Amino acid sequence: MKGMMCLIAKEMRMTPRMEKLETLIRRLSELNPKYPEVVAEYKRRMAGYRGEKSVYFYLCMLPEEDYYIFHGLRLFDGQFYFQMDFLLLCATFAMVLEVKNVAGELTFEKEFNQTLCKRNGEEERVKNPVLQAKIQAKKLKVWLRKHNCPEFPIHYFFVNSNERTFIKTEPHNDQMILHICNSENVLEKIEQIRNYYKKDKLDKKELKKMKRLLLTNHTPDDPNILKAYELSPKDIITGVQCPDCFTIPMIYKGGKWCCLKCNLMSKTAHAPSINDYFLIIKPSFTNAEICEFLHIPTIHIGQKIIKSMNLPYTGTFKNRVYHQPKS
Ligand SMILES: [Zn+2]
Repeated sequence: MKGMMCLIAKEMRMTPRMEKLETLIRRLSELNPKYPEVVAEYKRRMAGYRGEKSVYFYLCMLPEEDYYIFHGLRLFDGQFYFQMDFLLLCATFAMVLEVKNVAGELTFEKEFNQTLCKRNGEEERVKNPVLQAKIQAKKLKVWLRKHNCPEFPIHYFFVNSNERTFIKTEPHNDQMILHICNSENVLEKIEQIRNYYKKDKLDKKELKKMKRLLLTNHTPDDPNILKAYELSPKDIITGVQCPDCFTIPMIYKGGKWCCLKCNLMSKTAHAPSINDYFLIIKPSFTNAEICEFLHIPTIHIGQKIIKSMNLPYTGTFKNRVYHQPKS
């Protein structure tokens, strides 16, 4: 099966922002006034991510060597960043996919290009996902031109990834229909476009060059999450988290971490908590800082624990700073 797969130029994974939100939720009191906001953003992004995963499942069936697939590519247009849920690249065209996982009924009105979403009996106006895809495609076109890439047709689609969503368009809105599909039809749409073009626009070398250019310029959405929510390190619950029952903190006793709630004993429970520190506090620490965060009783034990992690470091023994390993 593996040999049949297309080329994944940028594989599907959670953005650093999502990882940080997930960490923050585990280490923020439910009583913190920002808690509901953080949870809401995480849930929204997770729903989107699940939708993208279902589209990815189909995209992976594209013929090998014909297509490069990029997930979540984020580029800078000179003023702002723009991010594409998926970008497909082949010798004849590129395709931008805007994936939405919205439950309910979506209606595309002809007048003003408005999109209405009906859910639980209530109707609200939402961003028109076809126009969103079109704008991304336009931005990509400008971006490629700026980077001296050959002129190239760029198609765009809104892909609905929610099986329970019902899509309706007003009469005479055919232009819109051409750019909408459900995840299970996405391959068919791609092949239709592929068959439309008789001649390749790029050779293998040019295609590879373009892939490299896009990947080098990808800038992930990796914010300082405390700053983004106007939180301070003081809002963060410190201590090692139990990997079994998720209680914080565990107690260090006789060379092991013990959970007072479920009685789990672990020699390595500090490792994910160190990762939490990197994700939400900062990407480096001193021995004293991590001892305070993990509730390690003495700096000597701290030294032993950090040493076992084999983290990259700078500075001499006394002023040593440990850094987040590059993934
Ligand atoms: Zn526990």
